[in-house]
Amino acid sequence: MKIVYLDNNATTQVAPEVLEAMLPYFHDLYGNPSSMHSFGGQVAQKLREAREQVATLIGASPDEIIFTSCGTESDNAAIRSALATHPERRHIVTSRVEHPAIKSLCANLAGQGYRVTELPVDKNGLLDMEQMESSLTPDTAVVSLMWANNETGVIFPVEKAAALAHERGIPFHTDAVQSTGKIPINVKKSAIDMLSISGHKLHAPKGIGVLYVRKGTKFSPFLIGGHQEKGRRGGTENTPSIIGLGKACELAARRMEAENTAVKRLRDKLETALLDGIPQSRVNGDLFQRLPNTTNISFEFVEGEAILLLMNEYGICASSGSACTSGSLQPSHVLRAMGVPFTMAHGSIRFSLSTYNNEEEIDFVIEKLPPIIERLRGMSPYWTSVAQACVSA
Ligand code: PLP
Repeated sequence: MKIVYLDNNATTQVAPEVLEAMLPYFHDLYGNPSSMHSFGGQVAQKLREAREQVATLIGASPDEIIFTSCGTESDNAAIRSALATHPERRHIVTSRVEHPAIKSLCANLAGQGYRVTELPVDKNGLLDMEQMESSLTPDTAVVSLMWANNETGVIFPVEKAAALAHERGIPFHTDAVQSTGKIPINVKKSAIDMLSISGHKLHAPKGIGVLYVRKGTKFSPFLIGGHQEKGRRGGTENTPSIIGLGKACELAARRMEAENTAVKRLRDKLETALLDGIPQSRVNGDLFQRLPNTTNISFEFVEGEAILLLMNEYGICASSGSACTSGSLQPSHVLRAMGVPFTMAHGSIRFSLSTYNNEEEIDFVIEKLPPIIERLRGMSPYWTSVAQACVSA
């Protein structure tokens, strides 16, 4: 069965160019980049190139790039570093819609006595910047706000938020795991101190991440060990993956604009056709402040899990809520924070596209999904009573 993969915010396919760049470093060029001999030295040279490629994509300097094992590690390293370097401060500002890599960490820190402010969002998933500003106190050790939401694609004004934090001498971190490679980022033009990236969201492999740390920002390492990453992250480097991530960043820098135009056109086509073809459906999240590849659509009176199962029979892959929470039947914390009604939140599906999707795939989903929803609603007592009420009205 052909797979129609519309779950690219969960993970992406490794680009063929990325795989090709990585392969020699698993077998032939397996040297340790820290070794004195030139066999290791040639790998170290390749890591320098990868560091430059990553830095170029986000407008950073190579020595501001720290390679980590994933986005979650980068997020943890950033928050823990801010707390360690400002031990007298006990307050963290974040939002209600963060990924568990930040949300669960902050809950854990709250259990250790830190005060955590989770900023609310409005019905479109947007932040109130005045509220953000008024939450900052002399006790605030760090502000951490995601650049783009993994479930809705909604984009936060992180550059503005970073400037507000900086005016008060508060370090600012952003989880840019979903925005890197999808929208332009230039850290030089902003006051962002720390920024997290995850390779597998931009066509590099799983298990490789980056933490950008602005030059001059106080930093305390999360993983303490060898002198790798200039003592900022111990552990022998994951050389093939770092080289792969470098290549993925180079491709993203070169192709982002053209790819995004194509991806956005397909996303909009899918969204419009589903909204037009399926009654009682709506998009969750702001229509404009949004990633070009994501649409989160609610189909009222049906279970998201049931939709996923029936789509799966056609090889269509998407998500209900985020991949990390789909094991739970609770509506996602993001949709709850936006006040999406229960009957809508339960039937929400996230479609997230990539440059590897095509028109034929989108047409296939547009053909298959409306009958799936109709079939499920036919079994739903809520929908039957709504439909009867409409007929008798
Ligand atoms: N932050 C966001 C916004 C994410 O979407 C994800 C993954 O879904 C992460 C962090 C965690 O990244 P990783 O899977 O590399 O740990």
